[in-house]
Amino acid sequence: MGKVDKKDSKRLLPLVNRSATPVIDPASADVSADPAVVRLALLDDLLNLGRANSLWPLTFGLACCAMEMMAAGASKYDLDRFGAGVFRPSARQADVMILAGTISRKMAPVIRQLWDQMPGPKWAIAMGGCTIDGGPFKYPNQYAIVEGADKIVPVDIYIPGCPPRPEALIAGILQLKEKVKAGRNFSP
Ligand code: SF4
Repeated sequence: MGKVDKKDSKRLLPLVNRSATPVIDPASADVSADPAVVRLALLDDLLNLGRANSLWPLTFGLACCAMEMMAAGASKYDLDRFGAGVFRPSARQADVMILAGTISRKMAPVIRQLWDQMPGPKWAIAMGGCTIDGGPFKYPNQYAIVEGADKIVPVDIYIPGCPPRPEALIAGILQLKEKVKAGRNFSP
């Protein structure tokens, strides 16, 4: 596992892509006059709470960043504390794809197929420099890797680093939980 300089800790904080899933600010909705809207908002809140606290990542790793992802799930970091430790072997039972590692062009269509097999609502986390934009393998005229996971799937959370430590992945998952809780499905 790589060491993270304390000075770099701010830089390594996950970034939320708020444009990937449209989120309506509940504060801007005038729900006071319509009880039906209030009930739908409550239903939304309940569903989102359940989803946020039972994220099921796909069992899926691409390169060295996946080691850090595995460490996050093991006993020391214990991803289960946040309800996100149930890694599923089938894409049809998963709702979070953690893209952890270099994405080769050969692998790209497989990733997209797995993403398409996941039922919605679903979310994607890009973990590590390689996944975000090609990282150290990005140079002019390279032909082997995809320079960014967002060219294949809509990414919700970006976690920089090479590799990001398990704490950074956990921080990213906590940010994803906040995003899931703020989502709106039925209410305005
Ligand atoms: S970001 Fe670094 S640790 Fe992660 S896959 Fe790329 S080279 Fe490996």
